[in-house]
Amino acid sequence: MIKEIQELNKEIMNCKKCSLWKSRTKVVCGMGDNNSKLMLIAQAPGEKEDKEGTMFIGPSGEVLEELLKHTKITREEIYMTNLVKCMLPRNRKPKQEEIEACSSYLDEEIRIINPSIISTLGYYSTKYIFKEYSIPFPQSRKGISEIFGKLFIVANKKILPLGHPASILHNDSLREKMIKDYKKLQVVITDCKWFLTCPLKRFYEKGLLEEKWIAKYCKGDWESCKRYQMEEKGEYHSDYMLPNGRINELLKNKL
Ligand code: SF4
Repeated sequence: MIKEIQELNKEIMNCKKCSLWKSRTKVVCGMGDNNSKLMLIAQAPGEKEDKEGTMFIGPSGEVLEELLKHTKITREEIYMTNLVKCMLPRNRKPKQEEIEACSSYLDEEIRIINPSIISTLGYYSTKYIFKEYSIPFPQSRKGISEIFGKLFIVANKKILPLGHPASILHNDSLREKMIKDYKKLQVVITDCKWFLTCPLKRFYEKGLLEEKWIAKYCKGDWESCKRYQMEEKGEYHSDYMLPNGRINELLKNKL
């Protein structure tokens, strides 16, 4: 794996596939833990990253550090990369042809690192990954902000879109929501602590419950599971209650 990534980075370092090579100082390759199950995908290097050739060291890097502090996940434990590896002049939006030229490197990184969790930061990387995994992408700005912090399960991957740290630099009122959304990283990186004793595990193992419930909640966003919430409060709840709070009568008398 390391050799493959090194080979890929060598190719990226010499890349001239789109016109951004003319304005870059340095290409910024992916970095972090190659064995991480979590991959963060941002948009493109900023000015400081372009000069130093490394990720998230500018103002948005400081915001990312702050957001990660709320997750107890360190950047060393993550593999992070960009959709576009060269700086966009004057921080403009990436052009479609630049995304098409550069995204093949990201596809390779995902193939080699094979993360079980992909967290996209901001509009363009989210749009790209949603297209790659055939997840419907909202058309409205409101719709886009509503998918941030929401877990999608596709092809055995957990996809968690989050706002880009830079957006807090432009609009501090987003900070609270983004802290809450980034905390989801800590949830999706571990299974539910009740899973091993949960009746749903037994129903699933007996083929009585669809895998989607386990993937979405028990091994996904367990914080949103009604069973988990009631268990935490010590509130009684039926063995036949699903994570969405509904009682599945069909499960009765099946254990
Ligand atoms: S942005 Fe990507 S495709 Fe374009 S020159 Fe840089 S590395 Fe190559």
